[in-house]
Amino acid sequence: MLVMVVNAGSSSLKYQLIDTQSEVVWASGLVERIGEESSPITHRTRVRAGADAPLEAFRSTATIADHKEAFHAVTEVFAATGEVSEVGELVGVGHRVVQGADQFSEPTVVTAEVIEAVRSLIPLAPLHNPASVAGLESAMAEHPDVPHVAVFDTAFHATMPASAYTYAIDQSVAREHRIRRYGFHGTSHKYVTARAAVALGKPVDRVDLVTLHLGNGASACAVRGGRSVETSMGLTPLEGLVMGTRSGDIDPALVFHLISTAGMSAAEVDTMLNKRSGLLGMCGQNDLREVHALAARGNRDAELALSVYVHRIRKYLGAYLAVLGRADAIVFTAGVGENDPEIRRRVISGLELIGVAIDQERNAATRGPSAPVDLSFRGAPIRVLVVPTNEELEIARQTAQAVTGRA
Ligand code: ADP
Repeated sequence: MLVMVVNAGSSSLKYQLIDTQSEVVWASGLVERIGEESSPITHRTRVRAGADAPLEAFRSTATIADHKEAFHAVTEVFAATGEVSEVGELVGVGHRVVQGADQFSEPTVVTAEVIEAVRSLIPLAPLHNPASVAGLESAMAEHPDVPHVAVFDTAFHATMPASAYTYAIDQSVAREHRIRRYGFHGTSHKYVTARAAVALGKPVDRVDLVTLHLGNGASACAVRGGRSVETSMGLTPLEGLVMGTRSGDIDPALVFHLISTAGMSAAEVDTMLNKRSGLLGMCGQNDLREVHALAARGNRDAELALSVYVHRIRKYLGAYLAVLGRADAIVFTAGVGENDPEIRRRVISGLELIGVAIDQERNAATRGPSAPVDLSFRGAPIRVLVVPTNEELEIARQTAQAVTGRA
């Protein structure tokens, strides 16, 4: 059951060839700077060396004008280093699509109508959906004989109640422009929910969680009975937690204030909030490892950035525990959640009264685990888990399921 998982960005193409049964990643790669003069291609493969061999890297550059040429270049690199057919039969191509709005709540086999629908959602996701359309069209041209499946970042949050997804604005405007909270990172929240349920020894439809996806982008999700009931990202991925370069929550009036008093254009404010804010905006670094290094040298801006980052997570954690009323566990995942004991310690500290307490030594020793780790003391009513996420595997599984009709 081989699936090619594709993540098309505006100037990049990431892919993985995954066997959904053995979970072996046979190859993975990245084409960067599409549309520029020279595009680096990094392809890693074990197709010829075998499932237990390390991935061997092949690097090259080519002139790649668009996503169509990028897919063709990937086919050529497979031909040179080990074809897909050498390890099995490709059953489908799974595409990560960021915005499915209220139209797509399930993995969807891609047709011309589906591509049109994704295109029609571009006004809701101007930074992401154009690349998804290009990725879908180009991949289907390159692999016309296998089904393609779109897996939406928003889909897991389709179960949010109206009380959580409605913005308290003029509803005639909201309806006309489809303005509501959609949420993102759904593939990751769903994947770690299923793994946490196994780790907790409960059926997934009985598990209540607060999941914290802390990567470069970051979001929190309240999960009741295995389903998303609230999440911190909204109409766009800008809302919610403090991120690498995004502000997360602000007073919306700040936008008008900057336009009217600082003379910034709407586009400049948009760029500032998405690209020059968050950790980067507060201390000049968006990678938390660098922020910690600065803070350790006594840099006040970095210390404040860490405090703001942690405070926002704790604020959401408290809110989501109130939304849920009870929780089996708090789940940390993604780059920061899986690798950063200091952030986990600060997020969890002082919560003993509500039944959250972790073994500090186990926390300090847990960095990049390959399987879920329970940090809690035995008997703590709310567990604290570190669960490695794997969005590509989740997309591959959903794709295989959609094309075969089997779980
Ligand atoms: P993306 O959202 O781009 O998929 P990731 O989930 O890979 O991002 O997370 C990337 C972030 O994770 C980095 O910017 C960095 O802040 C953080 N990170 C990765 N490794 C570590 C580490 N060992 N310690 C602290 N933070 C880390």
